[in-house]
Amino acid sequence: MNGTAARADAETTARAALLWRCWPDGTKFCPRCRAQSPYALAEGRLRCGACRYTFHDFTGRWLNLSGLSAAQWLDLARAFAVDANTREAALAANISYNTAFKALTVLRLAILAQGADARQLLGRQTGLGDLFSSGRLCPAPDTPVGEVPVYGILTQGRRVFVDMVPELTAESVLHFNHNFHLRVARLGHILITDRYKTYDGLVLCGDDRLPYHYLLRHQGSPFAESGSPFWLYARDRLRQFKGLSARRFPLYLKELELRYNRRDEDLLPLFLDALCAPIPATAA
Ligand SMILES: [Zn+2]
Repeated sequence: MNGTAARADAETTARAALLWRCWPDGTKFCPRCRAQSPYALAEGRLRCGACRYTFHDFTGRWLNLSGLSAAQWLDLARAFAVDANTREAALAANISYNTAFKALTVLRLAILAQGADARQLLGRQTGLGDLFSSGRLCPAPDTPVGEVPVYGILTQGRRVFVDMVPELTAESVLHFNHNFHLRVARLGHILITDRYKTYDGLVLCGDDRLPYHYLLRHQGSPFAESGSPFWLYARDRLRQFKGLSARRFPLYLKELELRYNRRDEDLLPLFLDALCAPIPATAA
């Protein structure tokens, strides 16, 4: 088989693997009105008999936010499942670094959207919803968010939960640090606090507008710095991420939460299911 034929073959196989996850029982329906049995048009397009909407198999799903082919998605997800960084994932999928960075943003959004707290995280407070709209990734995602959200790390046995704590902002953390002697450690733009209520620590990623110089040093280091296995794992990873910002921070936290909780599992099926899931209406 020559190169072109081999690539076409790989694309057919990859596409079948993704289609099966999009339409598990083979029944197709309209992404707009959910009416079943659309009829087929040319070039793989489908049309809804009820509302006349024209779509294709991946319309309205996370993987459709990027122009990657099915084979490129599969190669990228496979590399990411074994913890490749952006550069390594780009090489594996034979795409540019920037294309891989954007596609991994889509994958991270898709992972986050699988969580029970997706509606909250894709809502206004994080600004994550601004990363995409009308079926596209947005070009200027790193404008500052209004108030920097705060996340809590909760350990239950071998599992960890990273929750947004909607009643708190970065400002509350500075206030607790000043007035209630809450211990806070700094890692670049990231702050981790001592225990707070049931949380092992609160964590946030600010930007240059946050008055880091205002932090007070209290004796000792926050509990999580020695007592949270998840934080010790996440801290080392967070140091290596490029493109970390207040807005993108929850994407990385939720990725690390999943990797930590599923550390003994093959992540590829989870990633592919996430990519093939419909983008929730609240987030679109
Ligand atoms: Zn329809």
